Amino acid sequence: MKFLADRMLGRLSSWLRILGYDTISANSFVGMSNAAEDTFMLELSRLEGRTLLTRDAQLHMRANEKYGISTLLVDDGNVLHQLNQVREQYSLVFPEQPEAIRCSICNGALHLASISEVLRSQEIANLRAKGVNCEKFIQKHADYYKCDRCGKIFWKGQHWRNILETTRHHLHCGQVPH
Ligand SMILES: [Zn+2]
Repeated sequence: MKFLADRMLGRLSSWLRILGYDTISANSFVGMSNAAEDTFMLELSRLEGRTLLTRDAQLHMRANEKYGISTLLVDDGNVLHQLNQVREQYSLVFPEQPEAIRCSICNGALHLASISEVLRSQEIANLRAKGVNCEKFIQKHADYYKCDRCGKIFWKGQHWRNILETTRHHLHCGQVPH
């Protein structure tokens, strides 16, 4: 299942990507008026068979009635509630241990990175600038991933452990903190 999410759903887009879903965010569109952007979202959803996720009731209605595309009106500002709404609506089974297959920033595909790619990356340059021993740091994680599109390097560090924790506690059993 593929999604296209409006500008109000940036965090939801990142989460869906982390969970493995191909999700385009309207935040990646530039140089369009609001009206042109709405029309572009509708046409792109239809062309690519994407489900349009939106918090805009009018856009939702237009998608439904004029374009006949699959669309969900997201009714809550809390990203975990939003994820559970999407999960329930489409009977999705979110993976308990998500694989690193999609870039949370840009929706590009991730591939295993070589050590030389990791060493040459901006992320490692940033750590080096902070005085981190990067040769030692790199040995801490078994796998590194590189985004085919934006080039960002990812590894399963603390951020990834937080994601797993959230996935286990709030997305599988449906318990969302208020
Ligand atoms: Zn990327």
